[in-house]
Amino acid sequence: MIEMQSVYKTYPNGVTALNGIDVTIEQGEFVYVVGPSGAGKSTFIKLIFREEKPSKGSIIINNKDVPKMKWKDVPYLRRDIGVVYQDFKLLPKMTIYENVAFALEVIEETPKNIRKRVMEVLDLVGLKNKARFIPDELSGGEQQRVAIARAIVNHPKLLIADEPTGNLDPDTSWEIMKILEEVNASGTTVIMATHSKEIVNTVKKRVIAIEGGLIARDEHRGEYGYEI
Ligand code: ADP
Ligand code: ADP
Repeated sequence: MIEMQSVYKTYPNGVTALNGIDVTIEQGEFVYVVGPSGAGKSTFIKLIFREEKPSKGSIIINNKDVPKMKWKDVPYLRRDIGVVYQDFKLLPKMTIYENVAFALEVIEETPKNIRKRVMEVLDLVGLKNKARFIPDELSGGEQQRVAIARAIVNHPKLLIADEPTGNLDPDTSWEIMKILEEVNASGTTVIMATHSKEIVNTVKKRVIAIEGGLIARDEHRGEYGYEI
């Protein structure tokens, strides 16, 4: 589902973030992306949903040539990709229900179907009873669960999580991890950038380590491999 060949990224300020990335990720995989700060992990992730364009190289996602895609076609690419961030990025003045419903493609969806789907995903993340709350009334872990519900409400083929447990305590991090595994078990590809040695070394998955803009390791059931 994801194929990168000889991908380079140099930002306009001259910093080279990626220095020749070759990788293939199949539909249904769960992949951790690890590596030191500044290694290029976020850049790697941003290239997947056309938040950034590579300076050189080919990126094919779901048979779409991402760098060559016209701006008007980018929303179609993004419809197949849910994204979860470290800082949740919920809309603060909207309810939990509205935060999730907002992300639904309303085209051809009846209000009844939207309601059904929103409540279904809120149930999946265990927050059906908080639909009327606003984000500030929820704990960090609950807010991250809302962000996951919002990211998967459209049934994306791919879920990208950029440090999803970075702001959470260990117990809450494990809850988030459990939900991401459930999402993956339903067939969704999950790519998770993380600094959590505990999670990577406990819940064994494919590990792609990026160092200095290159893939330093790519291992099935790999280890975190760094001290922090
Ligand atoms: P990581 O996510 O592993 O910390 P990043 O992809 O964020 O790494 O960054 C890789 C390198 O690219 C770093 O040197 C960083 O400072 C630089 N960089 C990231 N984003 C930009 C940007 N928008 N403009 C210029 N340099 C950037
Ligand atoms: P390029 O301008 O080189 O084709 P992109 O299409 O990736 O590069 O655009 C870079 C950024 O500029 C995008 O992330 C987006 O924020 C903005 N952008 C580009 N085209 C449009 C557009 N038609 N409407 C709104 N924003 C745009």
